[in-house]
Amino acid sequence: MKTHTQPVIGVLGGGQLARMLALAGYPLGMRFVFFDPDPNACAGQVGPLISAGYDDTRALDEFMQRVDVVTFDFENVPLSTVRYVQQRRAVYPDPDVLEISQDRLLEKRFFQRLDLPVGPFFPVNSFSELAFGAKSYDFEGFLKTRRMGYDGKGQFRITPGADLKAIWQQAAGQPLVLEKRVGFKREISVISVRDSDGQILQYAITENKHNNGILATSTAPARHSENAQKAQEYARRIATELAYVGVLVVEFFETGEGVLINEMAPRVHNSGHWTIEGAMTSQFENHLRAVCGWPLGMTDSWGYAAMLNWIGSVPDIAHMPKQPHIHHHLYGKQPRPGRKVGHTTITAEGPAHLQQKVVAFAKQLSDSLNAAG
Ligand code: AMP
Repeated sequence: MKTHTQPVIGVLGGGQLARMLALAGYPLGMRFVFFDPDPNACAGQVGPLISAGYDDTRALDEFMQRVDVVTFDFENVPLSTVRYVQQRRAVYPDPDVLEISQDRLLEKRFFQRLDLPVGPFFPVNSFSELAFGAKSYDFEGFLKTRRMGYDGKGQFRITPGADLKAIWQQAAGQPLVLEKRVGFKREISVISVRDSDGQILQYAITENKHNNGILATSTAPARHSENAQKAQEYARRIATELAYVGVLVVEFFETGEGVLINEMAPRVHNSGHWTIEGAMTSQFENHLRAVCGWPLGMTDSWGYAAMLNWIGSVPDIAHMPKQPHIHHHLYGKQPRPGRKVGHTTITAEGPAHLQQKVVAFAKQLSDSLNAAG
């Protein structure tokens, strides 16, 4: 779809990703309307927000009337909502992708169909299947809900000492999948963007570190390797197969033997936030360009970048170091345990220099917080 010069983009979901999409789109003359059941959704601080249930067809009709094209910032928007919107407005990426990515099992089978490597997994529908699977994986695994899992939610670690009965009691009642624990050397993500003509551009390989299943830091460009190159190739294959339009992020475990796909996100992604300052065109701008049928911007890196997430709370901005290579992003969200409330990106000319700047930042911040009492 080619939109006119001042397109209005409708975003289903009004979280920080929607907010950063808008902040990237305003300089290009784009306008935004957000739709989110939460009246306090943080994108509402930067643009009009329609707050209603995802099943409220009257509110969805109003939303559609006000926008030219629709995207989403959250892959768990109900499929029925996206399908309803699709009847009257173009939706990118195509909702068929959501159908796959909303269910871990369908997603893994989709990768297998494309002959792409995934770690061992086992669908679980009963306690005896859990007990059998856990034993066959030597009690080293992750039991995950097939649906609605993100930021470590809906995940249960299986260890040799774990009480399987207690885990089953918490997890039962919904479709589940057991994954064998992958002994990875590092986790990487590939951020690709594909336009409607089929051109695919990719950002530098990004290395990610998680705490309790939540992304803590992303660094790019990460060390390149043959495996990383394979990961880029796999991500390209997925985007092509899906005739994808927009930013697609694929997360990988890199092991001694190669890479295994962990999961994909059919949207802009936390591991791509570094592209705001670290790449020639941010993931947010490129997603919008793709969605609006515009040519893509260059994805080359300016230098090196490290992104640190603020989870649960963020220090008062007054006490944060603010040198020119330090870039703070606060999402305007209420602090809450486990909630992503902001991030900071530190940029540098080289990897060693970046490391020094990250260490100096942490020290300066801790000194400043101690001084503030
Ligand atoms: P997920 O939400 O499935 O991406 O899981 C969040 C994080 O938990 C991953 O990025 C890994 O750090 C860890 N994790 C999840 N599944 C596995 C697995 N099968 N093996 C090892 N680590 C895992």
